[in-house]
Amino acid sequence: LKASIIPFKDKREKTAGCIVVVKDLTEIKRIEKMRTDFICNISHELKTPLTSIRGFVETLNDGAYQNPALAKRFLKIIEKEVGRLCRLIDNMLDLSMIEMNQIRLNIKDVCAQEIIKEVGVIFENRLREKDLAYYEKFQEKLPKVKADPDWLRQIFVNLMDNAVKYTPNGGNVWIEAESKGDMVEFRVCDNGRGIPEKDIPRIFERFYRVDKHRAAGNGGSGLGLAIVKHLVKAFGGDIRVESKVNQGSKFIFTLKKA
Ligand code: ADP
Repeated sequence: LKASIIPFKDKREKTAGCIVVVKDLTEIKRIEKMRTDFICNISHELKTPLTSIRGFVETLNDGAYQNPALAKRFLKIIEKEVGRLCRLIDNMLDLSMIEMNQIRLNIKDVCAQEIIKEVGVIFENRLREKDLAYYEKFQEKLPKVKADPDWLRQIFVNLMDNAVKYTPNGGNVWIEAESKGDMVEFRVCDNGRGIPEKDIPRIFERFYRVDKHRAAGNGGSGLGLAIVKHLVKAFGGDIRVESKVNQGSKFIFTLKKA
């Protein structure tokens, strides 16, 4: 709390009383902390790939470039790290634009079934690489929903990306959808590693990861779910997760019927 006292005088210039202003700084302090945490997180996220790039560039400069096989391998790693940096920056820009309501959402009546089909195609290779079974479990004719089709695709891509990333080889990944009152409920499910109960409440925070080390190796940015949550909210829906360690996760979100 911060208090200031301002005296005031009457007509004869005598102090007649004072005004006491008491300000609650809790909220201001909280926002300040959020800002410094955010900058700290961003710096850390940018630094990890940059440190790795610097290391490989230095090694190349110190002579590794003379060994073509080694040089090629290092350049591939550098290329991968640069890709990761670009993705991270794209995600940060998307998230800040979405948070500031700066993106123009083109909300219309969308056939989610078609979008899910497209997303299935995008993931074909990765599903095959990890030997994951993928299927869709829909109510026969799903009603259209209110959403921006491009950003809805992004929602499914982010959730599928996680399902694939966090499910061991040979597992299952599937998408369910059903009509519920004036909403349609979508569930992106996997039988992978799951999320510990204590982490579930924080999972949608930006940069939050259950296992920082392992997730970093996966090339994730910790922003995927924050983006998903903001988009679902912007479409007038809601999102939650049900998960059990070593059994799997279900990301459940709703969208308004068209
Ligand atoms: P990331 O880029 O690290 O995947 P996200 O915001 O998409 O960032 O997810 C945040 C964290 O939530 C992940 O690091 C992971 O720990 C956890 N998570 C998300 N989806 C799943 C899932 N399907 N199964 C297990 N853990 C998950």
